[in-house]
Amino acid sequence: MSEHPDVVVVGAGLGGLLVAAEVARRGGHPLVLEAGPVSGGVAASVHDENYLLEPAAGSFLLPHPYLTPILESVGAGVVPAEPVAHRRYVYDRGELFEFAGPTSLATRLVSTRGKLQLFREPWVQTQKMNTDESLRSFLERRLGPEVGRMGATLMAHGVFAGDPNKLSVRAAFPAITALEDIAGSLARGFLARRRARSKDAPRAKVHIAPNGMDELASELAVSLGGNFRPDWPVNSVQRDGGEWVIIGRGEERAPSVVVALAPAKAAQVVPEAFTPLLNEAHAAPVAVVGLGGHEADLPVLSGFGVLTGPDCGLRILGLLFESSYALGRAPAHHHLLKGIYGGDADPTVLALSDDDLVALAIEEAGQILGMPFQPTWTRVIRHTPGIPQYNVGHLAWLDRLDLISADFPGLHLAGWGYRAMGVTSLAQHAAALADKVLASS
Ligand SMILES: Cc1cc2nc3c(=O)[nH]c(=O)nc-3n(C[C@H](O)[C@H](O)[C@H](O)COP(=O)(O)OP(=O)(O)OC[C@H]3O[C@@H](n4cnc5c(N)ncnc54)[C@H](O)[C@@H]3O)c2cc1C
Repeated sequence: MSEHPDVVVVGAGLGGLLVAAEVARRGGHPLVLEAGPVSGGVAASVHDENYLLEPAAGSFLLPHPYLTPILESVGAGVVPAEPVAHRRYVYDRGELFEFAGPTSLATRLVSTRGKLQLFREPWVQTQKMNTDESLRSFLERRLGPEVGRMGATLMAHGVFAGDPNKLSVRAAFPAITALEDIAGSLARGFLARRRARSKDAPRAKVHIAPNGMDELASELAVSLGGNFRPDWPVNSVQRDGGEWVIIGRGEERAPSVVVALAPAKAAQVVPEAFTPLLNEAHAAPVAVVGLGGHEADLPVLSGFGVLTGPDCGLRILGLLFESSYALGRAPAHHHLLKGIYGGDADPTVLALSDDDLVALAIEEAGQILGMPFQPTWTRVIRHTPGIPQYNVGHLAWLDRLDLISADFPGLHLAGWGYRAMGVTSLAQHAAALADKVLASS
């Protein structure tokens, strides 16, 4: 590149790409170096026999104050999902319950006693703001044992494939603890947030990348022109006077460097002072099982998908109705389902072979949907080290990381391993990093 970059971004997963796109959107000059031949990282869509299986991020909510401007600036082709995407289900105790937010209280998913306990919520004593509490303990404290256990299991399974007893509510679901911090209660906080939202503000809806998240990643990379370099593995980043030297297939220099790699990978390139702490980070392997077939053999409900509750008696954590909310993910008159296994919720299931995981998914999906089915297309994708688990202690780990980072001005860590699990929070984090990078360029 002719111009000296303001920042070198190491890693072209969605995390790194969003940082680069945000810096570019604000008039800065990022350079992205990626080890692999293409961009996108774990969100490497599978295109096969007219099925489109998203192995990682497959949808996100828009409009979003940070993600929307980035996507618009690169002209990304995202579209709303089918309207049925708002319809969600929970499978527990051998039954399927339609779950539509607060109205689900009318279902038998929780007992009358459990429902009545919810009325206590506004008067439950609040915790100190810096308490690092587990998701389950927090929700049981506020909502009572039954609803709390159910809610914690669904949230942990649905977002982290995590263990609700281990996940830190404040690290993993900060928007929820914010309600308690600000209003002293989830109910009061929720109402206050609703009142504060302008009546004209559009409601966020599920969106998808119709041709695949790989194409979205490619659009972000292409928007950088020659400043995206694939097949450029970085071996180390080192401080040299007032700038950073990035060494790999060559040498690049910039006042700032954003290392957008999972902690275990980042540990191999950043200064040694970070290594022990980065190697303490915990991620949990997961398997994504795709099941496709003709609509006659593979009946799928209309909706987004099913999460499994604490007493479901199954090992599947969630089953997404891919071709129902995203029509292009299966050939005409065919369906695609996506099952999620493993994580901290159930690490031992991953000892199964791919064939056994497929057989388990077929059996469990059939049980959930109440009818046997036989797919003609299957695929297993395993993520290792997998989904970062923001367990209790994660916030203290981030504080320790910040302390070390203070000795290395201009070096930033980004991506889902730290403070941002999904695409929208990665975009929010990208905006904060762009502030810092452009301020020091
Ligand atoms: C099963 C599953 C479902 C999910 N569903 C959703 C969802 O519906 N919505 C949502 O918003 N999010 C979802 N996510 C999360 C989302 O996919 C991740 O947050 C996001 O893709 C992480 O991107 P990243 O850039 O942080 O990391 P990565 O994708 O891991 O990117 C890191 C990149 O760095 C590169 N790299 C590694 N080492 C080097 C090196 N030495 N030099 C240069 N480059 C290097 C890698 O090749 C890779 O491209 C899901 C995740 C999973 C696993």
